[in-house]
Amino acid sequence: MTTRRNSSTDVLTVNEIFYSLQGEGFHTGTPAVFVRLSGCNLRCRFCDTDHVTGQAMTVEQIALTVNRLSAQAPLLVLTGGEPSLWIDNSFVTTLKSLTGKTIAIETNGTRHLPDAIDWVTLSPKSAFPGGDREPCVLTCCDELKVVFLGQDLAQYDHIEAKHRFLQPCFCTDDNERQRQLRLTIEAVMAHPAWRLSLQTHRLVGLP
Ligand code: SF4
Repeated sequence: MTTRRNSSTDVLTVNEIFYSLQGEGFHTGTPAVFVRLSGCNLRCRFCDTDHVTGQAMTVEQIALTVNRLSAQAPLLVLTGGEPSLWIDNSFVTTLKSLTGKTIAIETNGTRHLPDAIDWVTLSPKSAFPGGDREPCVLTCCDELKVVFLGQDLAQYDHIEAKHRFLQPCFCTDDNERQRQLRLTIEAVMAHPAWRLSLQTHRLVGLP
């Protein structure tokens, strides 16, 4: 896996680039191009994302693919894996200028982020087995999106966020999925600073 970055000749390992609707959190329903970078520093037990394989691409190649998929979509979401491992300010500003899109990131918060990012979705995993390999160091974000498995929400009180979302853990078993949903709804009603986030893309069959 390459870690080079910064200039137009540098490459990142890209797992996939696809056009869809943002399914979760504040931007739910917004058309967005997703750039999934390969590799993560955590090993969350519930992780269901294939982020291991990838293709080496320059920022220009990434932007070309993004614009081919949709030149009009307002949002570009950097995701993973853990995208913050591989990007810097130069990458983000170049991507922004070549696509004209708002650049959002979905991060586990274990790395500080380039200033040029427009929207930060922080999803700390330190409460979970495998997600506790490294601490969350970010204390400020646009939206805090927490996968809820019954953990004490007070551990997130120190994080400054414009929006707080609790999201049930996805399970393939129908009964368990319903149980997780009920658990999360009850937690939101007991802690009204939070709102419910659902993986709506799964509900409507989008990637
Ligand atoms: S931080 Fe995200 S991508 Fe990384 S292991 Fe955990 S759930 Fe998977």
